[in-house]
Amino acid sequence: MNLTNKVCIVTGAASGIGNGIARRFAQAGGKVAVADLNLDAAQAAAAAINADHPGQAMAVAMDVSDEEQVQAGVAQVAAAWGTVDVLVSNAGIQIVNPVQDFTYADWKKMLAIHLDGAFLTTRAVLPLMYAQGSGAVILMGSVHSKTASPLKSAYVTAKHGLLGLARTIAREGGPHGVRANVICPGFVRTPLVDKQIPEQAKELGISEEDVVRKVMLGQTVDGEFTSIEDVAEVALLFAGFPSNALTGQSLVVSHGWFME
Ligand code: NAD
Repeated sequence: MNLTNKVCIVTGAASGIGNGIARRFAQAGGKVAVADLNLDAAQAAAAAINADHPGQAMAVAMDVSDEEQVQAGVAQVAAAWGTVDVLVSNAGIQIVNPVQDFTYADWKKMLAIHLDGAFLTTRAVLPLMYAQGSGAVILMGSVHSKTASPLKSAYVTAKHGLLGLARTIAREGGPHGVRANVICPGFVRTPLVDKQIPEQAKELGISEEDVVRKVMLGQTVDGEFTSIEDVAEVALLFAGFPSNALTGQSLVVSHGWFME
């Protein structure tokens, strides 16, 4: 897949999976806006990409749940590079708690970042994509778009909801040459996952080793974590696919944890 001169926005790209996707897109020739809540980290990530691929990365300050910041961030990218060809709505957090203890504030925060963020960023890029008659929207789902685990009510709800959003964008965007797909990774060793290991051990009353071995990797075919690079390859496939044949889909990349 080749993204030469394609303008890409990856949210949450200062860390983890988003960062890996941004690096992979730049390697494939794309220009990449590293959009993140954490501007210092976004600038460091963009500088690291520019060191390997001069002029191919810029940092953008963006809270994906803030309508004005999303509009301003997308406008900044369009002003610098002319358009947006690929959006990866990836920014996300995790909060674990049983339903009866989940605070309403945490519930709303989760839905705001995962669902409002996907909606707001998509809405901001679609006029640019429709004007040029092409584009790819990629939403970061999860195996939790397809199944549920205890303690993750808001996350599971939001990740399921992204499937509906992507399918609707695919229907509306098809006549404009805009595709929409969802990536559904299994557990990937990032700060988001590292934070959960002690939290889940405490909530479930088991050791951290058992959280990893049984809860996170127990259903995989080989006991292995999915890597950032694995997820980035799927993102590249969705970003560079040449026709509407691949749209409205969700692809699970999880070492066989979830099969369909
Ligand atoms: P991470 O914590 O390494 O990175 C998340 C990034 O998002 C950070 O740079 C953070 O600053 C940014 N961010 C958080 N809130 C934001 C906001 N409101 N606006 C803009 N940026 C914000 O996490 P990760 O593991 O790389 O997760 C990335 C995505 O992948 C998330 O949507 C997550 O749900 C999804 N995912 C992760 C895994 C996994 O196992 N790590 C599995 C499936 C899906």
